[in-house]
Amino acid sequence: MISRLHDPGYNRWACQIERAGGCRQPIHLRGKVEHYDQATGRLLHRYSTLREPNGVLRVACKTRRASRCPACAEVYRADTYQLIRAGLVGGKGVPETVSAHPCLFVTLTAPSFGAVHTRREKNGKVLPCHARRDAELCPHGRTVSCTDRHRVDDPCLGEPLCSDCYDYDGSVLFNAISPELWRRFTLALRRRFARLNGLTVKALREHVSIAFAKVAEYQRRGIVHFHAVIRLDGPDGPDSPPPAWAMADALEEAVRHAVDVVTVEVKPLSRAFRWGTQLDVRRITLDGDLTEQAVAAYIAKYATKAAECVGTLDRRIQPLDDLEALPVRDHARRLIAACVRLGREPGLTDLGLTRWAHMLGFRGHFSTKSRRYSTTLGALRAAREEHRRTEEITTGRLPLFDEDTVLVVAHWQYAGQGLSLGEQLLAAALTGVPLPSAGGGPR
Ligand SMILES: [Zn+2]
Ligand SMILES: [Zn+2]
Ligand SMILES: [Zn+2]
Repeated sequence: MISRLHDPGYNRWACQIERAGGCRQPIHLRGKVEHYDQATGRLLHRYSTLREPNGVLRVACKTRRASRCPACAEVYRADTYQLIRAGLVGGKGVPETVSAHPCLFVTLTAPSFGAVHTRREKNGKVLPCHARRDAELCPHGRTVSCTDRHRVDDPCLGEPLCSDCYDYDGSVLFNAISPELWRRFTLALRRRFARLNGLTVKALREHVSIAFAKVAEYQRRGIVHFHAVIRLDGPDGPDSPPPAWAMADALEEAVRHAVDVVTVEVKPLSRAFRWGTQLDVRRITLDGDLTEQAVAAYIAKYATKAAECVGTLDRRIQPLDDLEALPVRDHARRLIAACVRLGREPGLTDLGLTRWAHMLGFRGHFSTKSRRYSTTLGALRAAREEHRRTEEITTGRLPLFDEDTVLVVAHWQYAGQGLSLGEQLLAAALTGVPLPSAGGGPR
């Protein structure tokens, strides 16, 4: 910290840190950018990292995971919020008329793979976890009952009443096939909605398109479920109104039907998976119980959470890792072990269970949307870059060139990542982003 403070390049370093927005693990880049006049080939401007502190430029890591970098995850969360919101009320290139399109907020859950400790509330009162008056003993001699009223932060929440009875294989297999189950759900939904309106899927497409935006959330038991916005548009997406006969009622019926009928089979194990019976379908309205703000905020919140919320690792499991020695709770360890074991089965390699063991088998994207839901994260990022560039031009750091006549040549090289402990303290003081808790040093 002292050497950084005394470094003649300190001011420039502090400037880089501030521009990275409090990123906890900035990426170090070495390189240069040159601007040439396209007509004459004359060099107009050159930026090189040679004169930067330590010869590198520090830029934000842009991770989505809050456990790795809270500052960058916050940017991602805010972008996701804007993206979901634009699809509900318009903005960012989506017309406001989209708010009149029939729209549902749907939560699709996983089935049960064994009884787990849960916290349930009724009328503000916490209920006993799994009270069974004449509970039987399981084959392992354990009583399958729990009368505790668990606290919100009780570490046993989501853990099985008997971990020897719990279907760990089923749990990780469900995570692995859930993206395919979602895909089949969207197809079945389209088919059913078409049929309810007396049309074929092909004919439906000429009048109606169905747009989706979804996020995956890990439940405490280590299984993903999905929250989705499902919206009816006209044939040209959000710009076109759906015909009057395309109603939210039929959409809801189609959702319930699709959830019921779709399955994914894991053939080598002769197992089939389907959605759980807990399905929540609600209308999104501008003035009802479920407003567009609430939905956008809810979805964005989950976009930055990953499996580590259920107590697994936030890095890949390596072949030489000793599973017994991993610093995780027993439930997560067993889920990881199931992934590693099933991942070795010759018929299951396509599921990528070994590679995604630290995600408890889930390899899908956390937030996805259909092409025509609203704007894209890329477009939001580009708009922000453009805003920054304009700022730099007005503050005199970048000369103003006409984009069409200037050739930009950039060479960048990765030169490392992270901050030393002393630098972390300075960065926290500069940006107001708090330090990581104990153990979170540079990687
Ligand atoms: Zn970051
Ligand atoms: Zn319990
Ligand atoms: Zn048991």
